[in-house]
Amino acid sequence: MRIALFGPPGAGKGTQAQILASEYGLVTISTGNLIREAMREGSELGEEARGYVTSGQLVPGELVRKLADSAVAAAGFNKFILDGYPRTIEQARWLDSFLRAYKAELHGVIFLSVPDEVIIRRLSKRRVHRVTGESYHLDYLPPPRDVAPEDIVQRPDDQPEAIAARLRGYRRETEPLENHYRETGLLREVNGDSSVDVVHSRIMRFLKSSPVTAARKAG
Ligand code: AMP
Repeated sequence: MRIALFGPPGAGKGTQAQILASEYGLVTISTGNLIREAMREGSELGEEARGYVTSGQLVPGELVRKLADSAVAAAGFNKFILDGYPRTIEQARWLDSFLRAYKAELHGVIFLSVPDEVIIRRLSKRRVHRVTGESYHLDYLPPPRDVAPEDIVQRPDDQPEAIAARLRGYRRETEPLENHYRETGLLREVNGDSSVDVVHSRIMRFLKSSPVTAARKAG
């Protein structure tokens, strides 16, 4: 099965991707995580990306493309879920032709839709574990008591100004993907403004419908 999740920042893509990955034995490919990892390692790519990420802007496409292509290849062009890639029409075209060349087209694209006010509420209270990257929410999913408070941090791009910049960027550059994938018949819009479990069951309803089912049976 080869699927992609897209939607605004804070739509719950990472959370849902993680659940689906363990349910179906998929590899999660999150360009956001790959970029943060490169930043932590201090690689050339990470250093190039840093300024964009902390100010809430999209990283130049060519950098992300390299990361995403190698991760897809490492997954063997199958059994993967893309989280946060593609994020522009240009990236979608690259991805479509890359996958086509390996006869590994996507089976479905899940669009998690969530209103802006919910996104702002979610992101401003999101905290992450400095080492594991595990995500928490101060009200709904507080970090466990045995986790050292100094390990729980706020992502720099979850600061109010960066959130606003990310939302603007999303509207301008990522939202057009909705039409791109609607035209190819791959898109399924899922209401992401509910609890994790409810959103997951909505996604499952889509995955149980063809053509994704056929893909699952085929491996
Ligand atoms: P995320 O964890 O998916 O919210 O991504 C965090 C940040 O990484 C984004 O705000 C961008 O700066 C960068 N990023 C992640 N994925 C992409 C992408 N596909 N294209 C460009 N920038 C990206």
